Amino acid sequence: MADHIDMANEVAEAEAARGIAAAQSANHPVGIEGECDQCGDHFTRLVKDHLGYRCGYCRDGRRKPR
Ligand SMILES: [Zn+2]
Repeated sequence: MADHIDMANEVAEAEAARGIAAAQSANHPVGIEGECDQCGDHFTRLVKDHLGYRCGYCRDGRRKPR
């Protein structure tokens, strides 16, 4: 019984690792470092959308906490 549970956990972990790797490779090309086209602040990761390269705060419609 324990062996079956261990195998199930290993399969689940492998699936999760594959999903994370796929998400990272999918996100990587669109994230760049630079100044946000909307708020003008510098960010290490901007993502291009229909308004240009924007930070996560602008894309979410909220201001950066100060
Ligand atoms: Zn911004």
